[in-house]
Amino acid sequence: MAESRKVAVIGAGASGLVTSRELQREGHRVVVFEKSNQLGGLWVYNPRVETDLLSLDPNREIVHSSLYKFLRTNLPRRLMSFSDYSFDCAENGNRLNFPEHEEVLKFLNEFANDFAINELIRFNTEVVRVAPVEFGANRWIVESKSEELSSEEVFDSVVICNGHYTTPRVANIPGIHNWPGKQIHSHNYRVPEPFKDQIVVVIGDGPSGLDICRDIVTVAKQVHLSTRSSEIEVSKLDNYENLWNHSKIDHVDESGEVTFLDGSSIHADIILHCTGYKYDFPFLETNGIVSVNDEGRVVGPLYKHVFPPKLSPCLSFVSIPYQGIVFLMFELQAKWIAQVLSGKVLLPSEEEMLADVEDHNRQLEEAGIPKRHTHRLHPHEMEYMDWIAAQIGMPSLDAGLKEIYWSIYKCVREVGYANYRDLWVFENLTQSSL
Ligand code: FAD
Repeated sequence: MAESRKVAVIGAGASGLVTSRELQREGHRVVVFEKSNQLGGLWVYNPRVETDLLSLDPNREIVHSSLYKFLRTNLPRRLMSFSDYSFDCAENGNRLNFPEHEEVLKFLNEFANDFAINELIRFNTEVVRVAPVEFGANRWIVESKSEELSSEEVFDSVVICNGHYTTPRVANIPGIHNWPGKQIHSHNYRVPEPFKDQIVVVIGDGPSGLDICRDIVTVAKQVHLSTRSSEIEVSKLDNYENLWNHSKIDHVDESGEVTFLDGSSIHADIILHCTGYKYDFPFLETNGIVSVNDEGRVVGPLYKHVFPPKLSPCLSFVSIPYQGIVFLMFELQAKWIAQVLSGKVLLPSEEEMLADVEDHNRQLEEAGIPKRHTHRLHPHEMEYMDWIAAQIGMPSLDAGLKEIYWSIYKCVREVGYANYRDLWVFENLTQSSL
């Protein structure tokens, strides 16, 4: 007889929504805590930014989403679907292969409506403390506060879906304290206008850095994209007259100069940190059993990026790993958690899970992969998802989906980052994946 547990889900973004659905499907009783007044998380575009543009002030008023106005998805609509709920269920506007962010929010609202998830959500209710009733017991205290009241409730299990693209990580730049220019993190970037006629250094060539530098190059005097690599020679990017590619910043000084490792230097007005985010669980108390390390980039120990061995299965995390078919990965993780909680699927022993975590870390080290990439799935994202699917008795991912996913990397290599979203086509894909 499958066990029904009382489960708290923290967050009503994409991961919290699909986790709530999977837990309900498995017969669990679900309460979703959402600190804002609406679902969607990251995909709720907020034109407001934080007063501290680097988001370092611990007392700042936090704006959750890091979305910029012209953001389009970096996966095509087919890969923004859940396994049984197509992105195209949402009446769409312009049917772009890579939709605008507004469509993703619409899709998540349709999903929540169609699976009656709204009624599980306590909006405007922030979780301020999660702790075991006592260590070793499988009961968890969840303390939350809303405008009206503070409450403390006991749950059999907690699933953490609070998102990890809100607490910025800022680059350490030698000399920055004397540098006279402005600094901003991409978390607080929305539109290009404030960069008009400025000379801007963008640090980081992840999706945000690559998008934002091409956003601001339309109004800025010059944009210099600086990446971690030390091999890059200064070179023009794409066909822009005012966009350059640089190696890592070596130092900056009080004259406003920015000097790169390759020895080149420019006088800049603004440094824009597209340097990623930190995992952050300010409410979680585990006596150090789960900790965040390596400048906020590693949470652990987590068995398969989901279960902390010593506190499993009653504490779990969805959405920790990145680079993959993200929404589908959330769904698989959620199904796995739901079936482990009902007893349908068993986890290995605590010792075996810890050994697996150590094994993963050792493999990264032997491959020369920095610890900061502990939760990066690429290039093994499909093996990871197939492994979880196997735990819950599901078949491996559809070959057509995998073909779509890898074709994007191919397209970016062939046509460049600037145009892949509009030049990528289905032509070479099997009909089944449409
Ligand atoms: P979030 O969407 O951040 O949701 C977390 C929720 O938890 C929020 O609603 C928040 O209010 C709530 N919360 C947090 N703390 C508390 C608390 N203490 N109490 C109560 N509620 C709380 N993925 C893709 O698949 N395709 C893309 O194109 C894509 N583009 C991206 C672009 C950017 C700029 C970024 C930053 C990420 C992008 N991603 C993309 C990845 C993105 O993380 C996922 O798409 C997904 O939206 C994350 O969902 P989440 O539920 O994990 O987190």
